[in-house]
Amino acid sequence: MSKRIPLPDWLPQWAKESPHLFKLNWWGFEPKGITGDDVYGTCPFCQEDTLALARTGQWICSRAKHCGRKGNGSTFLEEYWRLRKEETHPNDLRELADWRELPLWVFMKNGWAYDPTTDRYFVPTHSAGGKVTDLRNVRLAPKAKVFSTKGSDEGLLGYRQLVALENGDPVFLMGGEWDKMATQVLLRKLGHPGVAVSFGGEGHFQNAFGKYFEHHPVYLGYDHDEAGFKGLARVGGAKGYPKKSSRRADGLIRLYSRKVFYCNWPEDSPEGYDANDFTRDNGKTAKAANLFLSYFQPNHPLEKKPDVDPASAPAAVNGKHDPPPPAPKVGYEDVEKAFSDFMEMTPEYRDALRCTLATVMTSGLEAEPVWLYLVGPPGGGKTALLLPFSQGTGEEDDDQDDEDDPYSYFVSNMTPHALVSGFMRNPDPSLVPKLNRKCLVMKDFTEILDMNPNQRDEIYAILRGAFDGRVERIFGNGVTRRYKSKFNIVAGVTAKVNSINKSSVGERFMKFKFRDNNLNSNAKVRAALSSMNRDKEKERRLAEVVRGFLDYNVPRLLDRGMPDPDDAMTDRLMNAANLAEFMRTSVDANFQGEVNFNPEVAIGTRLARQLYKLWWGLSHVDGGREVAESQWPIVRRVAMDTATGYPFQVVQAFAELEFPRSGFSFEEISALANIPKSTCRRVVENMETVGLLQRTKEGEQDRRGPRRYLFSPIKHVQNLWNQVHEEER
Ligand SMILES: [Zn+2]
Repeated sequence: MSKRIPLPDWLPQWAKESPHLFKLNWWGFEPKGITGDDVYGTCPFCQEDTLALARTGQWICSRAKHCGRKGNGSTFLEEYWRLRKEETHPNDLRELADWRELPLWVFMKNGWAYDPTTDRYFVPTHSAGGKVTDLRNVRLAPKAKVFSTKGSDEGLLGYRQLVALENGDPVFLMGGEWDKMATQVLLRKLGHPGVAVSFGGEGHFQNAFGKYFEHHPVYLGYDHDEAGFKGLARVGGAKGYPKKSSRRADGLIRLYSRKVFYCNWPEDSPEGYDANDFTRDNGKTAKAANLFLSYFQPNHPLEKKPDVDPASAPAAVNGKHDPPPPAPKVGYEDVEKAFSDFMEMTPEYRDALRCTLATVMTSGLEAEPVWLYLVGPPGGGKTALLLPFSQGTGEEDDDQDDEDDPYSYFVSNMTPHALVSGFMRNPDPSLVPKLNRKCLVMKDFTEILDMNPNQRDEIYAILRGAFDGRVERIFGNGVTRRYKSKFNIVAGVTAKVNSINKSSVGERFMKFKFRDNNLNSNAKVRAALSSMNRDKEKERRLAEVVRGFLDYNVPRLLDRGMPDPDDAMTDRLMNAANLAEFMRTSVDANFQGEVNFNPEVAIGTRLARQLYKLWWGLSHVDGGREVAESQWPIVRRVAMDTATGYPFQVVQAFAELEFPRSGFSFEEISALANIPKSTCRRVVENMETVGLLQRTKEGEQDRRGPRRYLFSPIKHVQNLWNQVHEEER
């Protein structure tokens, strides 16, 4: 029974045009007669002439004793596949596998079955809704073709794998079944996270599947022939392809994914060369797999080849990373230029931008996390700097992200449960594990400061754990979450952060403090952020430039790692860190006017390591290979900004007068350091307790007034200050 069953002439007109009848007929339904409006004939399941098909597509086998199957037009194929799949022994597929020279497992994984009635091998493909919509089938013969079931709708091979794919992992869209499976074999050899799928033809794509291609780079792997080139242009929308057709469907995939790569088979490949040919010629080794991956390029094969920097060509991989896309050189100047559409690039903004980039860039380094506050007045200034990081991740902009950002994760608000979720859900919705080796970009940390203390302390506890790389939370419902995750943070915050340090994460953050009080008068910033004027296209372009900058520079930085600083650098960093720690630990006056006092001066090493990592990042922002003198002023500035507060103002006031020997009284310090008199006394007393200030001598005593004492910073602090600021003189 291997021949197609012809349809008799006596069929009613509806049956002659019915896709349902075609489908049944393809798999063994032979019309035998008519009862009422139904056509009855051979049941493909039990081979008895007991199946009745109605015009609506409803079918039922009345041989109740054994079969009794029934269904509608869209369930027949699935039912039939399930039956045959159950009956198919892996060995039944051996001949097919040998013919394609592909391993048996890949046929089993894709659901191939053998149909003894028609002597065909077949595999189900699915609609975007997950229904079996076609049984692609083939009969063994040289040059045999794979056919669709007549009357069925085209579906996707690899549906289950595609929907289970993690964001950011690539999809290989292949021309046909064999290429799909050959690619699957190669990817598995590498432990590659990508999946291969096929619509059963070159240039085939259905918009209904678009959502499954979002967040994924797409690798188009069609044959080396005219049909393949056309398919690449149609689905990939290659701009430089000379014969681009004018069909409206061109560039379909770009509606969903902005990262598209084209298979560029070697130019001397035989006509029609494909992935299955490739595995036949090259085998299925990791080496072959890497060679295969290296053929995927950002340009159409018939497009004039751009000069590709070999270092940035999509590299062969052998691990869980996807092949890095070729990254053209984007330098800091390009980023600054793109930002200048959104803000007047004042020196303040320039330095803040450089620190932000350095923080994001160094997230993947094994070292002390860099956590950086951008401290400034409420309003747009800081936000505008963080804006480009909101594209492609997080909630700010979920309509146009093409994949998970490998460098940063943007959040505009935060709860303890967003960080670590107690819901036993799959996938785990918790943020912490997603942040590993990335940079958390927070629009406004002030909101956390303003939270109720319970929530806030929970967040602090999670962050403290994360700083050390381990987070563990136990929930009331018995769920325990444990993560190893280490990440950098850059967060906008108002000056309020300076007054809240108690039992917080404050000492883990460095600060970049905007000195420019007119931050929000930057007209461009205001325009860019007002919802009236937001130019989505410009914002996207900015995000793309930033992303390009990171794509180019981060791999280079990570390759190089972070060498230890030399002795001179270490001294410098330690001095700055110790001075900062001295000043930020001494006094902590909260806004109720109470003084929170922590007499333990933290040893500066943690801060020194953070500063060095920032410095290393800054050197790569500048495109250099080593830290340079030119970046030190910014590093020092961050160290001093980190120490921001009244004690800093006091020491600074002394420093400006070159540390006069005699010292100053409370009143004088209050005036010089611009600290309210009422507060100044406490500040000075606490600085004295910590050992930052010493009482030099008793001042002249007013006849009627209280004793006057004079204070000055201890010699050690004076020396530290002078060493740290030496170059400024
Ligand atoms: Zn039956």
